[in-house]
Amino acid sequence: MLRVWGNAMSESIEETELGDTNLLTKRILIGLAAGMLVGVVLNRWGQGTLLGGFLVDGVFYVGGKIFLSSLKLLVVPLVLVSLACGTAALEDVTKLGRIGGKTLILYLTTTAIAISLAILAAILVGPGLGAEYATDALEFTVKDAPSLADTLINIFPSNPFQAMAEGNMLQVIVFAILLGVAMTLAGESGRDLLRVFQSANEVIMKLVFVLMQIAPIGIFCLIAKVIAEQGPETFQNMVSYFFTVLAVLLLHAAVTYPTMLLLLARVSPIPFFRKLRAPMSVAFGTASSGATLPVTLRTVEDRLGVHDSVGSFTVPLGATINMDGTAIMQGVATVFIAQVYGVEIGPAGYLTVVVTATLASIGTAGVPGVGTIMLAMVLQQMGLPVEGIGLILGVDRLLDMTRTAVNITGDAAVSCIVARSEGKLDLETFNAP
Ligand code: ASP
Repeated sequence: MLRVWGNAMSESIEETELGDTNLLTKRILIGLAAGMLVGVVLNRWGQGTLLGGFLVDGVFYVGGKIFLSSLKLLVVPLVLVSLACGTAALEDVTKLGRIGGKTLILYLTTTAIAISLAILAAILVGPGLGAEYATDALEFTVKDAPSLADTLINIFPSNPFQAMAEGNMLQVIVFAILLGVAMTLAGESGRDLLRVFQSANEVIMKLVFVLMQIAPIGIFCLIAKVIAEQGPETFQNMVSYFFTVLAVLLLHAAVTYPTMLLLLARVSPIPFFRKLRAPMSVAFGTASSGATLPVTLRTVEDRLGVHDSVGSFTVPLGATINMDGTAIMQGVATVFIAQVYGVEIGPAGYLTVVVTATLASIGTAGVPGVGTIMLAMVLQQMGLPVEGIGLILGVDRLLDMTRTAVNITGDAAVSCIVARSEGKLDLETFNAP
């Protein structure tokens, strides 16, 4: 039985891998669309019924959770192994510094552009002006938004196993880079360990592929549940805020990234977006860049042609610190809350928003909803009432899904640009259908 299943599985893997790599993407998109449809139907007619409850809180809940766990299962081993291999593959520590520098500058620049667009749009649209918002009953207790000093200190691991067990990605990244550097420095004796890591890397990448086979069902369950639970009523009051954030997210994805790809990497954005459909759908369904990491990494390296030595560094780092979509939400939300409470921010204030929201998005973990917690840090910094977050919570889940898709798009775009500048972007793979 197990053999038969194993054979069928390897056949289906082979078939998808060799035949049509788009097949999985198509399945994921179908899962996404079907999930939305079922979600709308259940929201309209299934609420309070036995069947509705059974599906939403039973089947979809379990299916979604299993899919999320299967993705998360991969993240720590994947980052550790692929980043250590990638660093060792550079062979020259100065290269690491150069690639790291470029990556950081690009991540920070795209995030600053994202927030500036967000602030500009929020000032122009004025989503918090005019309408009556019931702010009296709002309560939002700040969950531990860490201080800047703690954020910095927390990057450095004191115990690598603890960092891995807790899934503290920045610490795992630092440890993996150090390990990769040390493997190179150790010369001949380091090579044995590197071979073990390289073999593990292959195996884990295969595991990503195996587990991705359940992605269409997983995405279906996650989406159907969210839509069934959050009907149209949730965001009726928040239409203006919701659409401002959505518009800026689309603008950033459809204008900023393509322009950067054209100007800085001299490549067409069309194959880029075509190939990014699968990771974007997974990001949308999971609302977690961390959980999407295996899919993003696979797409960036295997389908966009970014060499392992660059992709294994830029993608995990991006999934951890680069959150343009989150920064956009934080920018619009800050201006929105200031408008609702009638607080004047002023030019210097907007500059502070750009800086703090950039830092807040760096500190945001790639899991659902954390961007909203980090928004508390921005509001506190600006002297705005943190309870204002209560106003936007209703529509946050849908925006979280969309902004996560933008977050991972930014990681992939920067990876291509950095790889191109290092001569490590395989144009044939990038442009292949
Ligand atoms: N869910 C986002 C992500 O994982 C983070 C956030 O904005 O809450 O990228």
